[in-house]
Amino acid sequence: MILILKPNIGVDSKEFQRIERFLKNQQNIEIRVHKVQGAAQLLTEVYLIGNTAALSLEEMRSFPGVDHVVRVSEEYRVLGRHKGDNRQNHFTYQGVRFGQDNLNIFAGLCAVDSRESVETMMRALRENGQVCTRLGAYKPRTSPYSFQGHGKTCLPYVFELAGKYGIKVIAMEITHESHLEEIRECLEKAGNPTGVMLQIGTRNTQNFELLKIVGRQQEFPVLLKRGFGITLDESLHAAEYLASEGNQKVIFALRGMKTNIGDPHRNMVDFAHVPVVKRITRMPVCIDPSHSVGIRARSSDGILDVLHAAAQGVIAGANMILIDFHPTPSRALVDGPQALRIEELPAFLEDINIVRTAYERRTELHKDYGVTSAGS
Ligand code: PEP
Ligand code: MN
Repeated sequence: MILILKPNIGVDSKEFQRIERFLKNQQNIEIRVHKVQGAAQLLTEVYLIGNTAALSLEEMRSFPGVDHVVRVSEEYRVLGRHKGDNRQNHFTYQGVRFGQDNLNIFAGLCAVDSRESVETMMRALRENGQVCTRLGAYKPRTSPYSFQGHGKTCLPYVFELAGKYGIKVIAMEITHESHLEEIRECLEKAGNPTGVMLQIGTRNTQNFELLKIVGRQQEFPVLLKRGFGITLDESLHAAEYLASEGNQKVIFALRGMKTNIGDPHRNMVDFAHVPVVKRITRMPVCIDPSHSVGIRARSSDGILDVLHAAAQGVIAGANMILIDFHPTPSRALVDGPQALRIEELPAFLEDINIVRTAYERRTELHKDYGVTSAGS
């Protein structure tokens, strides 16, 4: 059960203390408090865990200070959608809105290889009106002998250039808790010219201790990749680890499933799950066509498979795209074969624009069946 308190009623209020006293006298009820930034005010959500069946909705609703009460199913308590649930399905970070109703594009480098690549990429993004990017500093590689990413040594110039080119959010994978500290420290040293969305890669989707640490901080939003060889349900539970620790700014990314049934693509594209995740949870859904398709192949219609896959995700309502570009893909240190060339950025953006417009027309056509939820 979740009690959503009235705006600006927090844990120091008399109203909260009265609820807390009442709950302490109940058997087997544990409470966890989450603070959520709403459109204008801070909202306090009280999660009741344990024998909540013994509590009546009416009784909990009658406490002064309670705005509304949601009885949740066991699954995905924080991030799931539940009956009568009008909690918001969006958040804002660095002035950029991330929600189930809009689309953000993160075109960038799979891995930072040099200052020049970063600058060329960011210049092109600015010229094309983009304020978000992806840049890998810590790279999880199959072989220990492969390039592992420049790590914290590249962060000072990455952040400095982001400030110079007006980049507001950088999606950056971390594979260890120490990376979180390094990012925080370097951002501070640079004067916080940009923001970072922490990416948990597919190899770490079920690294529960890392998820808990990342979930305990609320400074950075999190992009969680679906695990490449586990069920959707298992990956959604992984997202819930982040939220149950307090961070609800979570975006869920589909990146293809590992199976050679997907050959000749690197992974089996799973973007038919975009609407599924939006239906089950309140998370915005990201697609990663680069790591799904993994090759630069063009169909007989002249369109690259990566762009076809991106279009499939966007026409199904994706809210974010993570896509690899590189100034010279043949010289990229990681994942060159799947990278688009920087001069292909304008056509890519136009293609996405066409498909997003088509998606919006589709929702208009079917609007009588849409679920509206407050704040979305
Ligand atoms: C990446 O996005 O750079 C990456 C390594 O992706 P994944 O974790 O999906 O393989
Ligand atoms: Mn990659």
